[in-house]
Amino acid sequence: MALKIFYLLSILFVVVSSEPFRFDNYSLYKVLPKSLKDVKYLQELQDAAPEFDFWDDPVPTADYINIVSKPELKKDLESFLASNEIDFVITQENIQELIDNEKKKTYTRSNIRTMEFDNYYTLEDIYAWLEDLAARFPETISIIIGGTTYEGREIKGIKISHGPGRRAVFIESGIHAREWIAPATTNFIINELVFSDDEEIKAAARDFDWYIFPVTNPDGYIWSHVGFRLWRKNRRPFGNEFGVDLNRNWNDNWLKESANLNPSSNTYAGPGPFSEIEARSLSAYITDMADKIDLYLSFHSSGQILLLPFGNTTEPLANYYDAMKIGRRAMGALAFRYGTPYTIGNIAEAIYFATGTSVDWVKERLKIPLAYCYELRDRGQYGHLLPPDQILPTSEETMDSVIEILFQAKRYGYMRGPE
Ligand SMILES: [Zn+2]
Repeated sequence: MALKIFYLLSILFVVVSSEPFRFDNYSLYKVLPKSLKDVKYLQELQDAAPEFDFWDDPVPTADYINIVSKPELKKDLESFLASNEIDFVITQENIQELIDNEKKKTYTRSNIRTMEFDNYYTLEDIYAWLEDLAARFPETISIIIGGTTYEGREIKGIKISHGPGRRAVFIESGIHAREWIAPATTNFIINELVFSDDEEIKAAARDFDWYIFPVTNPDGYIWSHVGFRLWRKNRRPFGNEFGVDLNRNWNDNWLKESANLNPSSNTYAGPGPFSEIEARSLSAYITDMADKIDLYLSFHSSGQILLLPFGNTTEPLANYYDAMKIGRRAMGALAFRYGTPYTIGNIAEAIYFATGTSVDWVKERLKIPLAYCYELRDRGQYGHLLPPDQILPTSEETMDSVIEILFQAKRYGYMRGPE
């Protein structure tokens, strides 16, 4: 009986507790496989021990694998790595310190006008900022609703348009909840398109219609703020488990690679293609305007990789060679400011075989001419817990590369500008 009461109390505690989960003394490992054998051991560990949070899949092309371990398993992880002679470094001994330093500033009515790029914002604040922009610049900016979520929220974005007859750039960001640098960078892009004095940026804002969704997984994003900082999926319940990986749920080669049917997995692909309302409703929104879109960008972290379709094959399909040339120039422009190196390749050759992703779907099903997926900073030092002082440099260099993509895409005949 006493046990039963204790159990009930602990359930109640979970329900009423408003404190986010703490990651005290959880450590971030950067594991450095040198051989296929190392990769195989790491794959076996990933399969056998779901309690380790792999931020990267162990694949032959990987330079490193970020793994988070809870305190009581660190010894096991380290002895596994040592006994298999796999190199590693601990880049963060206590990731709770990083989380505590994220300085989540909250808007008040007096500071809603200005978004700053030295801290991460909540969904509520991002939406309030978008609404304010639309209210201030009604001639050029409007709020757009790209879909809805399991918990009934809107997937809210912004459209920037300086007149009819323009081709479109579509930006989808934050589909993985914990990758906070993605919405932050996307907000910076919006801010530049609205306020920059730079002639190239002003021309980019003027010449295209911009459809931008900073947070396409609102339920997950909120949960990563108030419940569990390292949350990746949406928040639909499956028995005792929660969430589908929304970037494995799109209806293109669904479940073929790097996704699975186990709801406890971080890459759970869902019960079927487009089973999730977020991916399904957003895809319907994109489909309705597909013939307008010349460029589709998806923002993620981390690894400093520019990915292009497809994730199911290393074959250079569609306009692979053009997309690579444009992408290489863009990554040259990105590196120019701070020297940040990016790898570029199709999803399958650059990181791993992965299917059911948004960029593959828009490329294959909608024939969007150019589709890229960014894995933003960094390379294994902080991963998804990128410190706030890197928001601005990450955003600036990314904006440089987006402008270069537009320039190069025009050179290669992909973007027509105003008709
Ligand atoms: Zn991601």
